[in-house]
Amino acid sequence: MLANDPTEILKRNQLKNTKQRVRVLEEIGADDAAISQPDLEKKLGKEIDRVTLYRILNAYEDKGILHRIIDHNGTANYAICSSNCSSHHHQDEHVHFNCSICAKVYCLPVNVPQITIPNGFKTESISFVAYGVCDKCSAEN
Ligand SMILES: [Zn+2]
Ligand SMILES: [Zn+2]
Repeated sequence: MLANDPTEILKRNQLKNTKQRVRVLEEIGADDAAISQPDLEKKLGKEIDRVTLYRILNAYEDKGILHRIIDHNGTANYAICSSNCSSHHHQDEHVHFNCSICAKVYCLPVNVPQITIPNGFKTESISFVAYGVCDKCSAEN
């Protein structure tokens, strides 16, 4: 809980504390699943215009405050990074799970397997997404 406190996150990253920045972090941290960009726009649309929201998300991604996961529809989802991520140095490359029933994307406490990329290819990020039915949706059936 404390790790996801918006005020703390902004302070740690030397970002000015503005209401809009806090609201974005609050919404992304509100659920244990990642939040999709359309949902975020729906929730914050009245308070923050699209361009500003986009700018805030980009800055957060850049700082290692949040990471973006593309789901099976090609939609961007955002989740807060663990506190050991920093600028351009994401430490928490973990497996994600995309549920086909509730469509949510979850961060799993599972490390991305070590893979060897052939010489000449420069990896910038690795995404590892598992598709299926999440624990909550399986329990309901
Ligand atoms: Zn589900
Ligand atoms: Zn994640």
